[in-house]
Amino acid sequence: MAIYSISDKLAFFESVFGKGHLSGNGKNFDIRCPICAPSDVTKKKLSIKTDCDAAHCWVCGYKTRTMAPLIRKYGTQGQLARYREIFGGPENPNEMVTGERTEVQRLELPRDFTLLPLANQNDPDVKATWRYLFGRGLTEKDAWYFKFGISNETRWKRRVLMPSFNFKGELNYFTARAIDKDRRPKYDNPEVDKNPIIFNEINLKWDRQIVLVEGPFDLVKCPENTTAMLGSDLDERHELFNRILLHGTPVALAMDGDMWDRKTPKIAKKLQEYNIDVVIVDVRPWGDPGSMSRAEFEIALGEARTLSWGDNFLTKLNRVVNNSARCF
Ligand SMILES: [Zn+2]
Repeated sequence: MAIYSISDKLAFFESVFGKGHLSGNGKNFDIRCPICAPSDVTKKKLSIKTDCDAAHCWVCGYKTRTMAPLIRKYGTQGQLARYREIFGGPENPNEMVTGERTEVQRLELPRDFTLLPLANQNDPDVKATWRYLFGRGLTEKDAWYFKFGISNETRWKRRVLMPSFNFKGELNYFTARAIDKDRRPKYDNPEVDKNPIIFNEINLKWDRQIVLVEGPFDLVKCPENTTAMLGSDLDERHELFNRILLHGTPVALAMDGDMWDRKTPKIAKKLQEYNIDVVIVDVRPWGDPGSMSRAEFEIALGEARTLSWGDNFLTKLNRVVNNSARCF
């Protein structure tokens, strides 16, 4: 029996039918209907139920209990076979669970990657890297723990490389933070699909609260059971999201302060829809977790609260008040 995650399925549908759109509650995936094929390609009116693949077009009224007929008609033989094999069909009921993905991305560190504590300590770049880390309140012990490294390749030079490993201890991602103020981009990372990646998976315990931060350099000040979302979005397309649902893992959401009344409540609500316990860590006075000390983060985590309907109401009220204030 094939095991796959919802993100695998959506990626597969997109490979056959083009870009789709996932509904806010994650229950429907909308694509351009190939039957009535509207000339406006942005119209996504064929709605597929993500759990069972029944679909319905709001324009032409086409209905189907499975996507197999459409894949047979508009896809290739290979895609149809793949659909049947991995995602099931009417004769092979769907087994949509989260779990190991069918394809694994290969990723390598730069060839000359060297752990910072083992690099030539007289090298000016190495010295500058230490200065940068100490300036951020990190220690040599942290450099060992997070396996910070350096590379002399042009793209990665004068950056702190922070690798991430999957549960088998294999590299699954790395990010590289510039140590020089004006360097752009501030963070550079390999061009891979980030959705399947769980940053720092090797250290995560799913049966206790997990702290979610946006970037890898935020998690250096957080407790051990922390992962980075590698962005400010989290939904059914992300393996991390699916894994949280699978284990029913309680979440402490510690996104950057500027997300407080935007993405933070959105993500919290999305997790709550799946009955995940969520508390929100207020890091607004510092901007982001990476700018806090460990002690400060511990306190903020201890004071984290759930998002209540009252908060929601207050946020909206604040917005209304701010907007009307602006009118005067
Ligand atoms: Zn249609």
